[in-house]
Amino acid sequence: MFMHNKRLQYTVRVAEPNPRLACLMLEQFGGADGELAAAMRYFTQGLGEADAGRKDLLLDIATEELSHLEVIGSIIAMLNQGVKVQLSEASKNEAELYQMIGASGTSAKESLLFGGGPALIDSAGVPWTAAYVDSRGEPTADLRSNIAAEARAKIVYERLINVTDDPGIKEALGFLMTREVAHQKSFEKALYAIENNFPSGKLPAVEKYASMYVNTSQGEGDMDGPWNSGDQWDRVDDLEQVMPADGGDGTASVGMGSDDKKAFTQLAARTMSDPTSDPTTGADMGAGPGAGRTSEGDLGGAADIADAVAMAEAMTKPAKK
Ligand code: MN
Ligand code: MN
Repeated sequence: MFMHNKRLQYTVRVAEPNPRLACLMLEQFGGADGELAAAMRYFTQGLGEADAGRKDLLLDIATEELSHLEVIGSIIAMLNQGVKVQLSEASKNEAELYQMIGASGTSAKESLLFGGGPALIDSAGVPWTAAYVDSRGEPTADLRSNIAAEARAKIVYERLINVTDDPGIKEALGFLMTREVAHQKSFEKALYAIENNFPSGKLPAVEKYASMYVNTSQGEGDMDGPWNSGDQWDRVDDLEQVMPADGGDGTASVGMGSDDKKAFTQLAARTMSDPTSDPTTGADMGAGPGAGRTSEGDLGGAADIADAVAMAEAMTKPAKK
């Protein structure tokens, strides 16, 4: 069960309201790498996890991410407090309110539709979606994805820190950013605590393809490194050699029963192309200059163009009083 503690995980001290900055902060509230996405990612993985250690880890971190959601949501609420009360109470004139809520496109939606409350949208107003959670129910795949998710969240916090000079916000964001670093460490440890963690899943890789590096982009700019050369790699520079990789004829085929085979033959006969036919088509008849025109005519002639220009000019003249 969940219980709520009335104190935040980190104290939120916002110097002054700023609805535009609030919109940017929404990226970590309802955005792709935001706290709700993180919480739902680890919560659902934890429920499905069979290993006691990983289940505990995932539920600990999921619950902490909800605490982060509360911190970033509180920052957003404080930043919107000014516009929220001014708009609700209509205590400024239209021009002043218009300017306040119109600081950015998203801040208008935040103020008008959501009344300044933190909404589950990103900084461009896009609603949060479960599609941000990419779990596959296989710990060696999910932990790698979690490591990347923590890295992304860290970077987004870093960018948000760079767009504000409010010391209280910077400090709270620095805390949230640092916690993602700690989570990344935990997920890496948990990944390597699984003895056979590469490749993911139960089936082994096919050995003769597992260390093949195919140099498919060749020419100036080719570069060697441990990612494509050395003892661990069977490097392929002569592409003919691996087309197709299995040494077969490289065609696609399927075994079909007699009914399917009959229908297949009928379809092929009905849609057969005749390379000797060269009929005149609508594209030939209507083609203008530069479009593969095959016949002379008065289409697009100088007189026609002059007429068309005159007609367009007549239509766009200012109305007479
Ligand atoms: Mn977090
Ligand atoms: Mn995290």
